[in-house]
Parts: sequence; structure tokens; C-alpha cells
Amino acid sequence: MKKKKKTIRDVEVRGKRVLLRVDFNVPVDESGSITDDTRIRAAIPTIRYLRDEGAVVLVASHFGRPKGKPDAAFSLARAAERLSSLIGFRVPILSDCIGDEVKRAVSAMKPGDVALLENVRFHPGEEKNDRSFAKALAENADLFVNDAFGAAHRAHASTAGVAEFLPAVAGFLMEREVETLSELLESPQRPFAAVLGGAKVSDKIAVLQNLVERADVLVLGGGMANTFLRAKGHSMGRSLVEEDRIPVACEVMSRAAARGTEVLLPVDLVVAERIDPNAETRVVDVGSVPEGWAAVDIGPKSAALFARSIASARTVFWNGPMGVFEIDKFAAGTLSIAGSIAESGATSVVGGGDSVAAVEKANVAGKMSHVSTGGGASLEFLEGKELPGVACLMDAR
Ligand code: ADP
Ligand code: MG
Repeated sequence: MKKKKKTIRDVEVRGKRVLLRVDFNVPVDESGSITDDTRIRAAIPTIRYLRDEGAVVLVASHFGRPKGKPDAAFSLARAAERLSSLIGFRVPILSDCIGDEVKRAVSAMKPGDVALLENVRFHPGEEKNDRSFAKALAENADLFVNDAFGAAHRAHASTAGVAEFLPAVAGFLMEREVETLSELLESPQRPFAAVLGGAKVSDKIAVLQNLVERADVLVLGGGMANTFLRAKGHSMGRSLVEEDRIPVACEVMSRAAARGTEVLLPVDLVVAERIDPNAETRVVDVGSVPEGWAAVDIGPKSAALFARSIASARTVFWNGPMGVFEIDKFAAGTLSIAGSIAESGATSVVGGGDSVAAVEKANVAGKMSHVSTGGGASLEFLEGKELPGVACLMDAR
């Protein structure tokens, strides 16, 4: 943490009514069943601690985009069920997150009781960070605990606004996310390799600009690398290239040269005629992308080159797949880099929604030092921004 923040360990929680903001915005299938409960599991240590310490715990979250009014499709009822079965006791869901029902329920709760409030986005004041809505949320609590790292880049009523009305501290997940990511920026063990990929340079400009100043090596793959290769004069066929971001790529490379940051780009590529599982593919050296073909993955020589750099690093941060890994035929480079990072022995941190999915697809999530639960939030953090959901917490002494 830039400034260290107070956590639940630093305050008395016994007998307190705690408004605990978590991120239960889990993925669901068409029938509404939860397909990945990682975020629910991640909140459990904080819930358990508060319960064991004798707090009355009101868990709050958003889920989906219900447009500021109640909508059964976006109820947190399934999350309450899943939480109950994971944590081993029943966590009831209340029908709202503010108002009389909550007030009545809270007054009947005993120390150690836990209830889930209904979706905070059923109120328009949530995303507007409306002061009176934040006050209504705060009214039923004595302490605000923020454990919703995944929503910390949003200045909403339940992620930041409530801190105006309640003492505010970090939960364990928030603490761990902020500490791990701060360490990357402020005191990484060196060499520090930042492996960046994904679709577009334009999504990651600020991250590139911040990490080029801090890493010892930038390893670039995926669609993002195409724009860098183009900037170096290679013809890229029909690959995804952002012509208008070539100046950004040039600027990052010259900053790297000036500072002595190594930049590794692919030396070979998997190209396909179309982005389609049935398309024909070839491996070509950069500079030999056929007219009309598109780069869809890094090639084996690149994967080996990147692996050597990763193996000699003591800290690795990874964001952005090396190719269109959603299609198995184009996933080899991404899976191999995931494996290299997992085997490196370095402190390994992965952030970004698709990158986390890739790590899971490669079956190596358990081998990473830290897999961030916050996609957008982890990237904004690494851009060097102060996140509203963190900034609002009380500073540690
Ligand atoms: P994250 O969610 O981890 O931040 P991004 O959203 O930036 O990652 O990037 C993931 C997307 O990038 C994936 O959907 C993947 O298909 C796409 N991608 C990676 N390489 C390429 C490429 N060469 N051409 C087109 N898209 C690519
Ligand atoms: Mg993504």
C-alpha cells in the first residue's frame, strides 16, 4: 500500500455491526447457476474472522447490471446459497440492502450472525455514489470493512461513499491484493519481468508506461505485440494492429532503451487465415507474415525465448494472453507461458480477467504466488492510480 491502511486486525470488531463489502459479482450460466465461485471463496477468511470475533456481519455486494431497480435476475440469492454451503452455516439473504427490513433483521442478529444484503445496484444511488444512499447503507452498521478489491476502482456508494459515515478498514483479501500489487510497483525482487499481452495496446497504455519504468524486462506477446512489431517495420498481414498506437509503442521502446529495460518481442508467430477453430495455421518468423493472414499466437521459438527470461526472473507479473487462447488451436503459446511462470520459482502475480482464465485453463493457478481477483482493479492499480475503494480506508498509524 502506498500508505498502509488499517485492517480488521487493527480495530475492535466484537459486538460491532459490520458492513462488509465483498465482490460476489460471480459469473453465471444462462440458467443463473454460478460457474465460478472463486470470488465467494476469497471472501470467506474475512467473514469467518468477523464471525469468530463476535461481530454482527452484514455482507453487501453488487451483481451484474440491474439498472438501479430490483430485478430478480440479478438477485444475490444464489450467492447466499453458495456462501452457506462453502462456509458451513446458513447465511440468509435479506430482501434489500437498506431500509426497515434490514433494520429489523439487524436488531434481531446476535454476535457471530451473518446475513447477505440484496444487490446494492438495485438502488440508483449505488453507482452514482449518492450521499444519502451511502448514509442509508451506513445507518445499520458501526464499521465498514472493504474486502471488494474487484470493485475498488469504482467510486460507488458501497465501495467508497459509506466511508464518509463509518470508520473504514480493509478485509484480508483487500489487504493481500493491495500489499502484493504495491510490492510489485515499489519493491520487487529483481530481475522483475512484466509479461504483457492481450488484444490491444490501447487498453494497456498506462500499464505499459508505468511498468517500463519499474520492470527489468518487458515481455510482450498477443495482439499488443503486433503493434510493436509493426512499429519495427514488419508487415503484419491482416493481424490485429492499432496503427494509431504505433507512436505509443515507439515511445515505450525508446523509454525502455533510455532506462535499460529490456523489451522482448516475439520472433515467430502462429498465423491463421481466419480467427476460426477450423482455419489453417502456420508458424512463421516475424517479418514473414503472409499477406491476408493474421497472427493468432506466439510461435515456439518465442515461447522458448520468453521462458528463458521468465526462468531468470525473481518477480513475474503477467497480464494479457499471448494469443487468441479461447480457441484451443491458438492457445499453445499462452499455455506454455503460463507453465513457464508457474515453474519459474519467482514471485508470480497474475492479473486481468482473461489472464486468470488462461492460468486456470493451463491448470496452474495453484502454483502462482498470487492470482488477483480484480481484473480492472488490478490493472488500474498497476497504472499507478489510487483506487477509491482503497483511498477511503483509514491510514494505519
Ligand atoms: P485481460 O482480460 O487478462 O486483461 P485482455 O482482455 O487484454 O486480457 O486480452 C485478452 C484477449 O486478447 C483475448 O480475448 C484474446 O483472444 C485476445 N488476443 C490475444 N492475442 C491476440 C491476437 N494476436 N489477435 C487478436 N486477439 C488477441
Ligand atoms: Mg479481458
